[in-house]
Amino acid sequence: MKQADYTIATLGSHTALQILKGAKDEGFKTLAICLKGRSEPYRSYNVADEIIEIEKPSDFFAIEEELIKRNVIIIPHGSFVSYLGHKSVCDIKAMHYGTKAILEWESNRTMERQWLKKSGINVPRIFETPEEINCAVIVKFHGAHGGKGYFLAHSTAEFYERFKEYTGEDDYVIQEYIVGVPIYAHYFYSRLTSELEVMGFDKRYESNADSIGRIAAKDQLDVNISTSYTITGNVPVVLRESLLPLVFEMGHSVIKTSQDLVENGLFGPFCLEMIIDKNLKFWTFEISARIVAGTNPYVNGSPYTWLRYDEPMSTGRRLARDIKEAIEANQLDKVLG
Ligand code: ATP
Repeated sequence: MKQADYTIATLGSHTALQILKGAKDEGFKTLAICLKGRSEPYRSYNVADEIIEIEKPSDFFAIEEELIKRNVIIIPHGSFVSYLGHKSVCDIKAMHYGTKAILEWESNRTMERQWLKKSGINVPRIFETPEEINCAVIVKFHGAHGGKGYFLAHSTAEFYERFKEYTGEDDYVIQEYIVGVPIYAHYFYSRLTSELEVMGFDKRYESNADSIGRIAAKDQLDVNISTSYTITGNVPVVLRESLLPLVFEMGHSVIKTSQDLVENGLFGPFCLEMIIDKNLKFWTFEISARIVAGTNPYVNGSPYTWLRYDEPMSTGRRLARDIKEAIEANQLDKVLG
């Protein structure tokens, strides 16, 4: 089959605009699957040749037969995986870009940490019980989408004081709080060329972590503000150039380890979510094994993709190009999973 026989589709949210625009730029037909009432951006920005509306995420499976008939290739993104759950993603029978099995490794906190540690990546310390707390910690609840509902504590007593608001919750992790700047590194690894690319960096714009600095410490206490990390958007960052070799090294390392963890390993877009401290030490607190929303500022390419491509190259477009090259080389199976 030739490229014109395929349609690239994704769920209308997260990074769908750049995925669909990138697919169109690479010559694919595009389809946006939208929850009812959420399709206007995809229509307005003219990135979708077609829009299908569904009532709820699980209705995806009701239209799956139709997608298969039409040679649709599904691109998973953060919201897609989170709405369906990685188990349901594994049940998808339609063509799916990327290795499904690796999604379990990123979704499970223990497995994710094992993957990072095996790769020699520096990770923040985890406290098994509140009694062990002996430094500033960040307490993260599982499924606290977008960092909502995290809290900070400095001692066991403070942990229990703050925890009162969360009675009944038992799925959380106590992690050492690293003082430094958050940096999210966006990568792309192609199974066709075995090449790793650094596509760009971002930092998140979080409420109210990013608003606290706008008022004096005294006012913060007066209005009783506590830190939360609800994601509202992403801000582009260019990294100090001397740090780039280490960023590449870490990317190679997690790819190599992933190949021991699951068949075919991780490929396509992924992200290391890090804090860089004052000694320029990198602390990785999360890995995302699919496209991240931090690539959204770069619909027209990032400074890094400009160096390599000399044409606008978003992560969404890079992904479509991978599929296109796979089709041309008669190796589509190599990018599906
Ligand atoms: P999820 O992706 O699971 O929905 P999330 O990615 O939004 O969660 P995290 O990325 O784990 O949540 O954390 C949200 C924010 O908290 C980050 O942007 C970062 O600024 C801060 N943060 C997370 N872990 C640490 C840490 N160990 N030390 C300092 N800050 C941290």
